[in-house]
Amino acid sequence: MEISPPANGNCVAKRKRGRPPCTAESFWGRVDRTAEDDCWVWRGWRSPTGYGYLKWGNKQQRAHRIAWSLTNGPIPDGMLVCHHCDTPSCCNPKHLFIGSAADNNADKARKGRALSGNRHPSRTTPERHARGERSGASRLTEPQVIDVLRKAALGHSHRSIAQELGVSTPTISSIVAGKAWRHVSRRAVTPSFSFITNRLAVGDVNSRAVPGWAGIVSILASAHGDEQLGVPATEAGVPVLAVDIRDGHPGLDSQIDKICWFVSNRIMDGCVLIHCVTGLSRSVAACAAYLCRYAGMSLNQALGLIARRRPGTIPWDGYKVEITTWLRLDELATKGPRS
Ligand SMILES: [Zn+2]
Repeated sequence: MEISPPANGNCVAKRKRGRPPCTAESFWGRVDRTAEDDCWVWRGWRSPTGYGYLKWGNKQQRAHRIAWSLTNGPIPDGMLVCHHCDTPSCCNPKHLFIGSAADNNADKARKGRALSGNRHPSRTTPERHARGERSGASRLTEPQVIDVLRKAALGHSHRSIAQELGVSTPTISSIVAGKAWRHVSRRAVTPSFSFITNRLAVGDVNSRAVPGWAGIVSILASAHGDEQLGVPATEAGVPVLAVDIRDGHPGLDSQIDKICWFVSNRIMDGCVLIHCVTGLSRSVAACAAYLCRYAGMSLNQALGLIARRRPGTIPWDGYKVEITTWLRLDELATKGPRS
């Protein structure tokens, strides 16, 4: 097959067999040009950071840079093509602007995505980033740092944490202030729980590290395993009932009796925590079931109380159905069949 050199002269004239030369036309053919103002996503190869790449001329180039230059002409030396839309693979020229590295960083900071989240290179290419214990300068390990953050969140003094670990107090302070070990998520260690009654609280997975519970109902599906969150499976000395509840099987209904029995026993000794990962759905449903059974509330009353004490809860509808069914069966079992 004879391949004619591209009219725009952007590509090398001779190519290896099988690869058509890239032209402006074939470039745009690989861009998902939807509505005029939407993101036009590159359909070719993408890097782990989400940028589209293609061979253009004799070089691997970022697709959005080609899109900009096909529209506006050559990119000035040393300048970056940045995204208004924050979508690395977007090639819509309307979403692109030219800027210096400083502009780009300012834009990132303004959009609140500087050095953050799953798009940070430390997440996308962790092997290239020596951080924390792998930096070679650190005396702490990542689990220890998580423990430091958790203890600080619970009000332990920086000095006492430092003494425990044999490091200096400023080391702990800089971790807590987020100056060191910034890649360890802070959100993952700050407990969030709410008391629904005087002795019964609903919370997230970090709440169980709060000292003083008389008992803990721990609802963690294996998909959100403890290892991932860096939380120990049991808390020293505190009875923990571990329950696996998922949307479907095993469902909540098969576990309600066990949970109610455990809570009603432990609550005589003090405060009981029911926690799941976020403290918003599964633990809420379990708490509501308990309140229906032992406080004589209707399901709506129970969920209403929980929503007032812990705003933002969103119990899954499937759990409500399961609780309603369970309550009906429970009532039947108590009253017995009518004679
Ligand atoms: Zn876009």
